[in-house]
Amino acid sequence: MQDKDLSNDKAQRFQQLPGIDTLLQQMTTEINTWGRDAVVKKLRDLLAQLRAKIACGETPDCSIESIRDTVTAALSALNVSSLVPVINLTGTVLHTNFGRAVLPKTALDAVMTVAGAASNLEFDLESGGRGERDTHVESLICELTGAEAATVVNNNAAAVLLVLNTLAMAGEVPVSRGELVEIGGSFRVPEVMARAGCQLVEIGATNRTHLTDYRHAIGDKTALLMKVHTSNYRVEGFTHSVAEMELAALAAEYSLPLVVDMGSGNLVDLAALGLPREVTAAETLAQGADIITFSGDKLLGGPQAGLIAGRQDLIDAIRKNPLKRALRVDKMVLAALAETLKLYRDPDDLLKSLPTLRYLTRDEQDIRAQGHRLLPHIKQAIGSSYSVSVERCLSQVGSGSLPVDLLESAALQCSPISGDGESLRRLQQSLREPPAPVVGRLHGGALWLDLRCLEADDEAALLGQLQHVAR
Ligand SMILES: *Cc1c(COP(=O)(O)O)cnc(C)c1O
Repeated sequence: MQDKDLSNDKAQRFQQLPGIDTLLQQMTTEINTWGRDAVVKKLRDLLAQLRAKIACGETPDCSIESIRDTVTAALSALNVSSLVPVINLTGTVLHTNFGRAVLPKTALDAVMTVAGAASNLEFDLESGGRGERDTHVESLICELTGAEAATVVNNNAAAVLLVLNTLAMAGEVPVSRGELVEIGGSFRVPEVMARAGCQLVEIGATNRTHLTDYRHAIGDKTALLMKVHTSNYRVEGFTHSVAEMELAALAAEYSLPLVVDMGSGNLVDLAALGLPREVTAAETLAQGADIITFSGDKLLGGPQAGLIAGRQDLIDAIRKNPLKRALRVDKMVLAALAETLKLYRDPDDLLKSLPTLRYLTRDEQDIRAQGHRLLPHIKQAIGSSYSVSVERCLSQVGSGSLPVDLLESAALQCSPISGDGESLRRLQQSLREPPAPVVGRLHGGALWLDLRCLEADDEAALLGQLQHVAR
């Protein structure tokens, strides 16, 4: 008897489900906004879900209003951008998860200009014939590195792949065991070598590799000598590695090219800016490297790109490799890269014009002063539940640039007055919500908001976000 009642109930609920035509008649606004096909598809999906629920004995809201609201919400959600700006208060300046370098203003303007119009990307305006996209950055790269020639691909991983595939396919490449780097999960030197079609010959020991190790490894099949910058770690203690200068002499003796993967491309004397010293691209080429590769969006501070610079004949060969076509950069990247590189021609203004170097060179006092300026507003916003203070902290460069060097900085340290981890997690989570997601760092039972990368323009957004947390 009871079973029968239940199935009667169900049958009634199925009957009460509005038909798709009835619903469509009520949804002319939605159809005008998103198109009939999209609305029909969402309605079908939703009706199928409702039927499934009824079949399971549930009693979902099947009113026309409710169905309409659900469909509208689903269709609007597709219009919300997934990729949005974030206020990076993690203290890591070049964070791969946050898109690495923040582009300079002139680069942004250039992107807008070329993206919204036809351009001479591969057109020679003088001759009226076909042009080469590299020309828009090549002379700038050569001027800043002293290279004879240069080309650009999608990122430094692509640059290394392309160089090895062009110059060492089916050949052997000796690399020191101390330099078999893994960068951010998927880029491992041995694996990239395999994909490039060349044979890695591991030489030396993890901590010590000598010139004789390279000499012994050279044979008929050796295609080139390679040095990889140990970007994200440092081998310390009883160590020895072979300097570029010595390796270049050995490579020349056997007429082999010396390739150096520099990782983060540095173009200026960082020590003069108060940062840890890092070899420059020009120095590496002057020490005898025939080809160097480096990223556009690490220390260089530009768009994601892989720069390849060095000997003309080698660059010509690299350009002719069909893989180059698959790895090339688009006009927006070229425009942004050209403008970023131009800033390096005026070193006195560089710290003002280039966000990456501006963030990296901000001194602790300046950051601390910003913290004290913000403190009363923040206390007002969340001070009833959290104790907030300005504390010393250490920032990182990030993306494997200057790996061991930390920068003195200042943070807003927020600890829950209740002292429990749950309210800390809640604080962290609600800071990540729209409209201005803020990401900090959890450490020692507190949330640390390192202010090194907080632009004055973003202060209001940070305060708004904290008020949002308090609500
Ligand atoms: C970062 C890095 C890479 C990869 O560069 P992407 O631009 O991220 O592709 C390769 N080699 C070294 C040594 C690096 O530091």
